[in-house]
Amino acid sequence: MQGLHLTADLYQRQGALSLFVDEHALATFCRTETQRSGLTIVGEKWITFPEYQGEPGGVTGALLLAESHLAIHTWPERKGVTLDIYVCNFSADNSVKAQGLLQRLIDVFAPESIQRNQILRGDEQGNQAGELLWEKLNNNSVYGFWFRKRLLEKHTKYQYLELLESADMGRTLRLDGCLMTAEKEEFFYHEGLVHPAMLSHPNPQKTLIIGGGDGGALEELLKHQPVESATLVDLDGAVIEVSKEYLQSINKGAFDHPKAMIKVGDGAEFVRTTEERFDIVLLDLTDPETPAGPLYTEEFFVACKKVLTSGGAIVLHLGSPFHEPEQVRRLSYMLAGVFTHVSPYGLYIPLYGAYWALAVASDELCPKQVSAQVIDERIQARAIGDLQYYNSEVHGALFALPNYYQKLVPA
Ligand code: SAM
Repeated sequence: MQGLHLTADLYQRQGALSLFVDEHALATFCRTETQRSGLTIVGEKWITFPEYQGEPGGVTGALLLAESHLAIHTWPERKGVTLDIYVCNFSADNSVKAQGLLQRLIDVFAPESIQRNQILRGDEQGNQAGELLWEKLNNNSVYGFWFRKRLLEKHTKYQYLELLESADMGRTLRLDGCLMTAEKEEFFYHEGLVHPAMLSHPNPQKTLIIGGGDGGALEELLKHQPVESATLVDLDGAVIEVSKEYLQSINKGAFDHPKAMIKVGDGAEFVRTTEERFDIVLLDLTDPETPAGPLYTEEFFVACKKVLTSGGAIVLHLGSPFHEPEQVRRLSYMLAGVFTHVSPYGLYIPLYGAYWALAVASDELCPKQVSAQVIDERIQARAIGDLQYYNSEVHGALFALPNYYQKLVPA
């Protein structure tokens, strides 16, 4: 059962209006071009919709093919057309025929812009059982993973939450279509977020995580013996509940640790109103274009600075320096406007599909100046075990930035 599925969304058509609103003209054109492509018509259905907003109604139609189908829908009010051609390639490869047919349909409508997709379907194409999910790195690039199981999905009060399972990543949390954390690779991000700042600080006792509802950063934080309290404030209690139930391999029950204080609420509100002071504040948040948006602002960074003890620091992720250079530049300069020292660093994070930028910001702490020997001594002294990514050499390597990244951040 294998085949090629082509879809195309055509915007701002410049071509023949008749094909747009006249089902007979459209049916005749599709029939002729389909036969010309060498595909075999076995049935068809065409419907014209009534007038809409003073515009003639569009047409929807389908040709049933021995190879499968051609479906077309016109949107006169938007000068748009949606097309979808699927050909099975069982007894012969019909791909070229399908691509030729699609191109002729596109040419006749002459749209100003097109979005096209091509899906090789069927297990013979090396496709896994399950679903292939893509995520945007920016408006030009995507990356994706095969997920063999969909364990849970729900709309929480704030986000659309999905829990999936993949061969490479294990159980994986996705919020609003963005991959958050996964069992088999979470150590890259969580060790990278927590240990550089924590081990640069001589005695981090009071700690705060804003976000981090999966509990992975909390688990890493509680490995540090000096920690007396670890407060976690996540907006969405549902993320914490789902993580407690399904992601124990990531948080290892850290939510129930005697030193952990779990609060559900807006991180900005917490930081604005708390009387407490913290040695290390970790911002483990969804991306700027989410409910976490207000926490990627100068105002919030200033508020964070107010809740730091002397010698304290905040840590946050900035995005992909290659795919989101302007975001990394903007946030790092914003931090430099609030803190004396901004220490950008980076590591490749498999789940995020790219080398990822993070930063430590402080008026005193400079992780880059902490020697490997001191890092080693502190790892020993704090009896920090089970580190899968981080060590004293990696500490140095994290802050050794490639030139293109150095050009994005304050010197
Ligand atoms: N590591 C992930 C990343 O880098 O994309 C972040 C994981 S963590 C699950 C993100 C958390 O930020 C979510 O649980 C979400 O509920 C939380 N969050 C978003 N906006 C927030 C806010 N305003 N205050 C507190 N937590 C927030």
